[in-house]
Amino acid sequence: MSVTTELEQVADELRAADKLLLTTHENPDGDALGSLLGMHLVLEQLLKDAAMFLAAEEFPLPHEYRHLPLASVLNAPPYDLGERLVVFLDCGNIDRMPVDFLREDGIRIVNIDHHHDNTRFGEVNLVDWSASSTAEVVWRLAKELGAELTPPIAEALYVGLVTDTGRFSHRNTGAAAHRMAAELIEAGASPQEINRQVFESLPFRRLELLARALARVDRLEDGTLTVAHLTREDYLDTGSDEHDSEGVVDHLRSVEGTAVAILARELLGADRAGLRKVSLRSVDGRVDVSRIARGFGGGGHTQAAGFTTDLPLPELVERLRREVGEQL
Ligand code: 5GP
Ligand code: MN
Repeated sequence: MSVTTELEQVADELRAADKLLLTTHENPDGDALGSLLGMHLVLEQLLKDAAMFLAAEEFPLPHEYRHLPLASVLNAPPYDLGERLVVFLDCGNIDRMPVDFLREDGIRIVNIDHHHDNTRFGEVNLVDWSASSTAEVVWRLAKELGAELTPPIAEALYVGLVTDTGRFSHRNTGAAAHRMAAELIEAGASPQEINRQVFESLPFRRLELLARALARVDRLEDGTLTVAHLTREDYLDTGSDEHDSEGVVDHLRSVEGTAVAILARELLGADRAGLRKVSLRSVDGRVDVSRIARGFGGGGHTQAAGFTTDLPLPELVERLRREVGEQL
């Protein structure tokens, strides 16, 4: 089905529902939270009861998104779950929201996303690969629904757009992303203010954690692979949480000659000893890092993907070196 028809179909689903429950993927990023909040505000404007849900473990939310008005997000299933239409945003695969109650029989799911590897797990799916961000899909949906772009809606969607495009620099940044930005600014979003809150109000520990990662950068295969890792000690010594390494991999991808940037970070928590979360970024059009990530049970976009693994670091790096080599 074409994306336009999917858009109309999802708009009809949303119009027909009075009670909804909106959610996104675990470890939510700017697009996850921006599209969640934007969708919530749009539906609220249409006089819907559109509750939001995030698991209790996600709180406190990442520092840079704490200014977003997300205080009403639920951390437990609502008592009337069975009456609600469940809407997933920015979630390529239902396993990225590891909460059992959302998988119960009888739950109707609408899946709104932009990942090309989306598994279409909803009863109704709106998956637009060409969209820069899920926020862009929500923006189109808001128009289809006839919603007015208020300043809070514009701000929420701008956060999704500016973070998922890497501040309008990644390959998913086209004319549509800039047109959307212009409309959001006209509707009251302030790029300066959002930029300051999201990118320039970071706790100092982030810089310390970044310094640890940068002190350990390895350049492999004549510099085509730029790799760094972080250990549990790095997080503990600097007082960081897992989210504080967000953005580290972007420093790696910025090195001249890099085709693929890799950050492997140890996961925190007693039950996750020996596990690493790996972030992959492709700077070379020939390399689709989501293909590599899927081979490890993860996924993502061609340019930005990730997975979790229990492979020891040397084996992990060796396998990544081989798999990137096969695509170059
Ligand atoms: P990051 O490296 O910032 O954690 O993730 C980059 C992108 O990779 C995310 O936007 C998401 O699309 C994807 N991604 C990261 N980790 C996973 C994972 O464990 N599973 C899947 N399916 N996608 C992931
Ligand atoms: Mn996204």
